[in-house]
Amino acid sequence: MASYEPTGSQFLFYSPRDRNYVAMPELEVADEGYWGLRCTDGHRAIRRLPDKWHRHRYACEVDHYLPEHDELPLLLPDSVALLSQPNAVIGSLWYHRTERSHLSRAYDGVTHLGTSEAAEDRNLFLISGGAQTNLFTAKISAGARVAPHVLVEPTSGDHGHEIFDKWFETADVIMYVNSHEAPGSISLAIKPSVLTTVVGVT
Ligand SMILES: [Zn+2]
Repeated sequence: MASYEPTGSQFLFYSPRDRNYVAMPELEVADEGYWGLRCTDGHRAIRRLPDKWHRHRYACEVDHYLPEHDELPLLLPDSVALLSQPNAVIGSLWYHRTERSHLSRAYDGVTHLGTSEAAEDRNLFLISGGAQTNLFTAKISAGARVAPHVLVEPTSGDHGHEIFDKWFETADVIMYVNSHEAPGSISLAIKPSVLTTVVGVT
C-alpha cells in the first residue's frame, strides 16, 4: 500500500471525535485512476467527475453510497508530485469556479483555489442549484510564503479550517488535501494580495 511521507511539511488532520488537530506522519496514496476516497468496505471511487444527476455524487466501484466512507481521504498521485516540490505550488496554474464575476472570497476574506478537476467538481455543485458560473485561473506571486503544514480535510463533518487563522499569521498560502471536490487533490487557501495573473476563462 503506497503512502507518502512528507519531507518538509507535516500533515495535520482535524479529528471531530477528539475536537483537536492530530499530526499525521504520512498519508496513504490512491491508486492511479481513482479518487482519494474509499467506502467503508474499502472499495475505491473511480476518478471521474460525477454527473449532475447523481444525488450522491461519488459512488465506489461497486456503487455503494459515498459518503459512507473512510474518515480520511487518500492523496492523489499528482498531489504527491506537488507536495514533493515545494516550489511547484508557486509555479502552478490554479483554478476557481464561482457564480460571481470576480474571484470570490470566503467568509474570512480568504480565496480558495484548486486543481482544474476540483473547479469542475465545484461547478457541478453550483449549476445543480441553477447558478451560472465563471472559471478563473490564477497564479501565486513568487514571494508568497507557503505554510509548512498541510491540513487534511476530514471526509465528513467539520473541515477544521479554523486553524488557518493561526497559520495565516506567518503564511500567505495554505495547502489542504481536499476531500470534497476532486477528493485527494490539493487546494489552496490564499490571501488575495498574493494572487497574480488572474484570468477569466470563457
Ligand atoms: Zn463500496
